[in-house]
Amino acid sequence: MIYADNAATTKLDEDAFEAMRPFLLDEYGNPSQPYSFSRVEKKALRDARSIIASCIGALDDEIYFTSGGTESDNWAVKGFVDSKDSQMIITSQIEHHAILNACIAMERLGVPVCYLPVSGEGIVESESLQSSILKGTKLISVMLANNEIGTVEPVATLAHIAHEHGSLFHTDAVQAVGHIPVNVKTLGIDLLSASGHKFNGPKGVGFLYVKRGTKIKPYIDGGGQEFGLRAGTENVASIIAMAFALRKNCDRMFAVSKRLSDMERDFLQVLDQADVDYIRNGAERHIPGNINISIRNASGERLLHRLDLKGICISTGSACDSVNTQVSHVIRAVGVPDEYARGTIRISFGADNVKSDAFEVAKALIEILGKSETT
Ligand code: PLP
Repeated sequence: MIYADNAATTKLDEDAFEAMRPFLLDEYGNPSQPYSFSRVEKKALRDARSIIASCIGALDDEIYFTSGGTESDNWAVKGFVDSKDSQMIITSQIEHHAILNACIAMERLGVPVCYLPVSGEGIVESESLQSSILKGTKLISVMLANNEIGTVEPVATLAHIAHEHGSLFHTDAVQAVGHIPVNVKTLGIDLLSASGHKFNGPKGVGFLYVKRGTKIKPYIDGGGQEFGLRAGTENVASIIAMAFALRKNCDRMFAVSKRLSDMERDFLQVLDQADVDYIRNGAERHIPGNINISIRNASGERLLHRLDLKGICISTGSACDSVNTQVSHVIRAVGVPDEYARGTIRISFGADNVKSDAFEVAKALIEILGKSETT
């Protein structure tokens, strides 16, 4: 099997698994309890918070553990704005549905939301934000890297514009953290979402960075965990594994991204040599290993299933319901022509892939497309 869908999820790192193991079996104390049996969990949580903070240039008390990217995004969108304030939210047309649907929920409460268009490369341009931002804009949320086409957004510039107008800036960095250098202070942002399973940590755990002094409302009410803002007994084992995986991914980031860029080149070279008619989507600055292509007169869905039969996992640029296949909102927003759009697939190589995987996937693809290799 070749797994080439690392933007969907990644394999749990084995060392991270070993780090979490004792907390699933022997060290099961509730970190909120005062007795000595819980001291190990309490300390492990503190250390995990500190590791994560250091990986993104934050302070320890700016990290709030959550159940993953979706919760972090919902909390960021819903944690500031009240319908009675009639304050606006600005986001982009290519956000993940965790942001888009949270924004739609806010619209139902009477909060106006503006969805910024993007360039053909999927970039949110600063002029577009400048012309949409109003005095009452409370929150601007633009992702750091897009999950379909991998485009890295000019978040530092956008955050600067937000602050000039007195707005808060959130970024969904679920696809970026652990894959490209992320420093919340250099980016100048107020909030950032991340998710453990996207960087070889466990599923169902993530965090929200909230800049010190930012007044966010609690999202889940209950006990006093997470500085009284996110209630619920902490998922100790997963938090520890997430911190471990993030540290490891940050340490090996440079070497891994170099290998992934080489794999992108190798993959596309095979396609070019076989004369495949495709458009590569995304921008020059993108998440390493992300290859989003739209193949002329092809069906992404059919390619996915044919590759699956050969033991290869990839993704499409579409969302299917029982009746038809819809081209994804991202592929629409970047303006891929119709004859290519339906043939969109996303190959996302990750730290666990080896160099030969690029050739294997490309060869399988051209075989399915009925093209012969010229090499
Ligand atoms: N945001 C982005 C950009 C994502 O890619 C994803 C997951 O695919 C999410 C949010 C949701 O994260 P999670 O799966 O941890 O809920």
